[in-house]
Amino acid sequence: MHQPPATEHLLPYRQHIDQLRDCGHDFWRRGWSLGTSSNYSMVVNRQPLTLLVTASGMDKGHLGINDFVLVDAAGQPTAAGQPKSSAETLLHCAAAEHRQAGCILHTHSVWGTLLSDHYRSQSGILIEGFEMLKGLAGITTHEQSFWLPIYENTQDIPELTSRVVAGWLAPDAPQPAVGFLIRRHGLYAWGTDFAAARRHIEVLEFLLECLGRRSILGTR
Ligand SMILES: [Zn+2]
Repeated sequence: MHQPPATEHLLPYRQHIDQLRDCGHDFWRRGWSLGTSSNYSMVVNRQPLTLLVTASGMDKGHLGINDFVLVDAAGQPTAAGQPKSSAETLLHCAAAEHRQAGCILHTHSVWGTLLSDHYRSQSGILIEGFEMLKGLAGITTHEQSFWLPIYENTQDIPELTSRVVAGWLAPDAPQPAVGFLIRRHGLYAWGTDFAAARRHIEVLEFLLECLGRRSILGTR
């Protein structure tokens, strides 16, 4: 498909943009980012904190090179004339600041949506005993368990962000903290760079699907 040239403020980030476009097409193909849902970001500068975020309402299967926005630590656009950034931009900024994430990815998969509701009374999902857990940074054996927190959904993103950050900063916060679910909504995961974030999303989506399918099979 013919693409117009990138607008000037995006030119230095063409490689990041192409990585996120490729990721979007893959996640869309897998059914994790359908109907313009979900959003992705990469940190392109630490001082001052600057993120490249997907623009609001774009088809993630067919992202154009200008479907991205540069935002600051507060989620505000760094240059005039940019499209509106994703409604959930503040969650990306928080992960970049408090988790030192270099890339943050978000999916709306069927299993993430269903299991975030199924396990809501526990406020999270304890995942253990799966070899694939070793794909998460900080986990070296399948015997190590992983806690995936669940937060209640809301359209008030600043309020949701403050709950998520409070969870990270709690003295007994489970480690490693590489993702969370929003109830009946989807999964967030991040990593130090694009490859780590993508690996974390793939591993967590795989594990969620295992838990979902296992409950259908009725096995433990
Ligand atoms: Zn979402």
